[in-house]
Amino acid sequence: MKDRTWIELSRAAISANLKNFRALLSPKTLLTAVIKSNAYGHGLLETAELAHKAGADLFGVNSLEEAKLLRAKYPEFKILIMGEVPGLAERTSEVSDPNFWIIVSRTEEVRILTNCKPSPQIHLKVDTGMARLGFFGADLERTFSEIKSEGLRLDGIATHFASTEDVLEQKYSKEQMKSFSEAILLAEKFGFKNLVKHACASASTMLFPEAHYDLVRVGISLYGLWPSLQTRLSLHLSGKKDFNLSPVLSWKTRIVHIKTVPEDSFVGYGSTYQTSAPTRIAVVPVGYYEGLDRKLSNNGVMLVKGKRAKILGRICMNMTMLDITHIHDAEIGDVVTILGKDREEEISADDHANWTYTINYEVTTRISESVPKKIAE
Ligand SMILES: *Cc1c(COP(=O)(O)O)cnc(C)c1O
Repeated sequence: MKDRTWIELSRAAISANLKNFRALLSPKTLLTAVIKSNAYGHGLLETAELAHKAGADLFGVNSLEEAKLLRAKYPEFKILIMGEVPGLAERTSEVSDPNFWIIVSRTEEVRILTNCKPSPQIHLKVDTGMARLGFFGADLERTFSEIKSEGLRLDGIATHFASTEDVLEQKYSKEQMKSFSEAILLAEKFGFKNLVKHACASASTMLFPEAHYDLVRVGISLYGLWPSLQTRLSLHLSGKKDFNLSPVLSWKTRIVHIKTVPEDSFVGYGSTYQTSAPTRIAVVPVGYYEGLDRKLSNNGVMLVKGKRAKILGRICMNMTMLDITHIHDAEIGDVVTILGKDREEEISADDHANWTYTINYEVTTRISESVPKKIAE
């Protein structure tokens, strides 16, 4: 075993999470496994393989680059491209794929895609309150009118919720749902019927069965993580107490050096930690380059032999020091758990998020692509 650090992905966990989501959906609703951004740090191709085997209907990505990497391995699988494609007009040969479902915001893009041979599916994004991609109101009406008058094609219509994860009461999301229904009616008024309609990400899929429409786009919870504590509480309060998620990722490293330093020694850059007693220190070969947040300096723990070991001093670019004074049997070569379970102890992406003032999404997504992935069957 020569890896300095690695990720283990649980096939059983991803299957269980997908199965739990499938159970929330009507049989006609498609389940998209959102694996953009290196599958939230889990590894694009590794996660694609797991999600494909576990029965996802589509892959959801942000970029055309990601879609092409997947296409090389899955010649006919449906891939939803959710971000904008810069320079689309010059990339028609790359997007000419009948199983690419591309979300666009403007008539110009609809025109380019309609003229592709073969043409991908074209889904129009509607902005119902995110102020990101898509249009609403007069701009949306003008877009429909242009698409109609030029005889262009539309296959789908989509929106995205802005704050489902952030609240317990869902007034804003309810308004977004209403706006989306209006946009659908407007599309129908212009003669665009039988569009594939979609709105939900993880939280909204769990909380708003009425918004599932034809397809849902599940990202964070595919990986066994809750979109937020509010979402978890809301689902619980709504009576779905048995819905559970299993974390897919464990992040590991191993001890490469051990030493004992005397009382009053300083540890690491900036000498930000001083020992108050003789201290046994383990060095692990993971730092902020590998994606360990530097805000975990003097402020986080890893697991060694099922026990919690505090991070001492500042996290370095490629190394971190741990206090293993109380873990007498720790040796060079021992596996250290950064995220995941070791015996009775567990450190979750949510723990890291709480310690570093961010969200679990960012914790896993920041794990460097360079960290090797292994599949745990
Ligand atoms: C990332 C993304 C999702 C998935 O969101 P989760 O909260 O991770 O489930 C869904 N839809 C769009 C448009 C996205 O960009």
